[in-house]
Amino acid sequence: MNSLHLKSFIRCKRKAWLDCKGKKSDEIWSPHKAIDKINQFQIFSEFCNGDIYSGLKACKNGYKGVIGLKIKGNFFQNINAEIRPQLLVKTKGKSLWGKYKYLPAVYKLGHKTTKEHLFDLAFSSMLLESFQESKIEKGLVISGFYKKVNVEEIYLNEKLRKKVLNTLLNLNECLEGFIPEITKDRKKCTICSWQKFCDKAAKENGDLTDIDGIGSKTASLLITNGISDTQTLASYSEKQLGEKLSKFNDQKFEKASIFLKQAQSYISGEPYRLSNKNETNDLLEKTRLGFYIFDIESNPDENHDFLYGFLKINNLFTKKEKLIYKPILNLKNNKGESYKKILEILFLQKDWPVLHYGETEKIAIINIAKNLNFSFEEIDSLASRFIDLHSLIRKSWILPLKNYGLKTISNWLGFEWMQKNVSGSKALYWWIQYQITENEIFLKKIIQYNKDDCLATLQIAEYLIKNQLKKN
Ligand code: SF4
Repeated sequence: MNSLHLKSFIRCKRKAWLDCKGKKSDEIWSPHKAIDKINQFQIFSEFCNGDIYSGLKACKNGYKGVIGLKIKGNFFQNINAEIRPQLLVKTKGKSLWGKYKYLPAVYKLGHKTTKEHLFDLAFSSMLLESFQESKIEKGLVISGFYKKVNVEEIYLNEKLRKKVLNTLLNLNECLEGFIPEITKDRKKCTICSWQKFCDKAAKENGDLTDIDGIGSKTASLLITNGISDTQTLASYSEKQLGEKLSKFNDQKFEKASIFLKQAQSYISGEPYRLSNKNETNDLLEKTRLGFYIFDIESNPDENHDFLYGFLKINNLFTKKEKLIYKPILNLKNNKGESYKKILEILFLQKDWPVLHYGETEKIAIINIAKNLNFSFEEIDSLASRFIDLHSLIRKSWILPLKNYGLKTISNWLGFEWMQKNVSGSKALYWWIQYQITENEIFLKKIIQYNKDDCLATLQIAEYLIKNQLKKN
């Protein structure tokens, strides 16, 4: 077992098991991991003022920062383990290399120092101490916000070391056993490289957390009440189920009705229409004379929207190839220039609604308008043009899907992205690659991805409108 397994184990037992024993062909490449590695290296280099080298030789030479070291050892009753410290930082002391020693350091994304960081440091210190023949009292958590390096010292006391030892023993036992169950907290799965593999297994098992709206707590409540899979859930009546959902108080029958419809739709593969004619009628009416689709790509860590994409639709029946797509790149975060271009497009057809998927786009436009000192009325009138299809589809349809994300719904509607296995995180990865290499190929990929996102949003709009037309 190694430090990566420990890190995974804290997040999800099954992940640690799969990382160690799963078939590599079932794992998918994770842009999150890649982005994390790039950010990590940049922050570590900055912290060490570029004095950062790789391997054992770097320790012997006494460089300030050492990466890429793997240290093997026994940690308890001859159980083999390996640590892969993210970074070793030189400090005063005495070790087998001379009058200095190393401390382990980890990279932190975001503000919160978690159990993962603490355990990683403590585990690293346990094997590093005997390896460098020197005691380690503390480790470092290094993070970067808006290019400023932040360092937090963590004291690696006995209590923490004991906890880590116990977790390592549990990890060892887990790795020797059968594959653990899928985590009940499926939110953890969204950035996991085993997601596809686990999604397939969850569907086959009839896992309750496959039903949109059922999280870990509701799933546990249902299991305690004898409802252990989606098939059983779907066979209940609204009244029976509502009685079991007393924790939702007044909403228990409403919740029961939604869960049942969602489970029945998921099993049958058939969508279910909720009676919400007004909203979709409104969409039909508002888009009759033309509309825009709008989608943004951004780097949330730097608060930087690097691409704004507009698709112009004069008529729903226009062929896709003939639609005009306009990407506005904001390479240097030069807001003034891109804001001007965005508003030019929006005011070219000032009566057209702007369709988007999720809240981000509307919030961004309101912020732009505020930034440009628009009056309250002007902001209100601009914001009223924005229609969030994510919220609209949730209000009007129950779909036979695990979630209501843009990718999930448009894939179900038959939409295919030009580039395979893409996501917002992959676009962010390309953006980071572009910043490092300045190779325009990455910009092309991002633009193609954004255009496809707009077209996928259009496909959802068409679904909503055409199904409305059928009924009228
Ligand atoms: S996809 Fe979810 S359940 Fe599967 S290994 Fe990853 S976090 Fe665990």
